[in-house]
Amino acid sequence: MSILPIRTYGDPVLNTVTTEIENIDGRVAALAETMIETMYAAPGVGLAANQIGVQKRLFVYDKGEGPVVVVNPVIVESEGEWTYEEGCLSVPGLSWEITRPNAIHLIGYDLDGNEISVETDEFEGRIFQHEMDHLDGVLIIERLDDDQRKEAKKLLRELRLQIVKNDSDGLNLLPGE
Ligand SMILES: [Zn+2]
Repeated sequence: MSILPIRTYGDPVLNTVTTEIENIDGRVAALAETMIETMYAAPGVGLAANQIGVQKRLFVYDKGEGPVVVVNPVIVESEGEWTYEEGCLSVPGLSWEITRPNAIHLIGYDLDGNEISVETDEFEGRIFQHEMDHLDGVLIIERLDDDQRKEAKKLLRELRLQIVKNDSDGLNLLPGE
């Protein structure tokens, strides 16, 4: 069992484009296992490798039917439009109504190196697009409209100030207090 901390908003690793995995070997399988455990512990329905600091094109997800690993995913087709309230483990506690394409055709590889091809829509299609964004260094904040983004940045600033304040409160405590 290993669970890693999930990187959050402001960490530059989330804004970096990840690179393709050349060999799907035991190390990739171990990474996927850690990602699945970290995703369930959060808890979340999807996790991209760079959310735990690994700059590789790999994500895991569970739409309610068990964990799935996708290596080197590519969205080859998207169609329609669907609005859904979307959150992100890297921007904890916040969510927004976001409109994106609905029907998605995703291809990639499983841990045995077999090609995966999934045509889906709604919830699963949304997970794919969200995780693909992560692998391209794009955070949910960048998918918001102008008003939502303004409000989000204000909220995030306030949250960060609170965290800093709580930390310094903690430091000011006398031993035994
Ligand atoms: Zn996310």
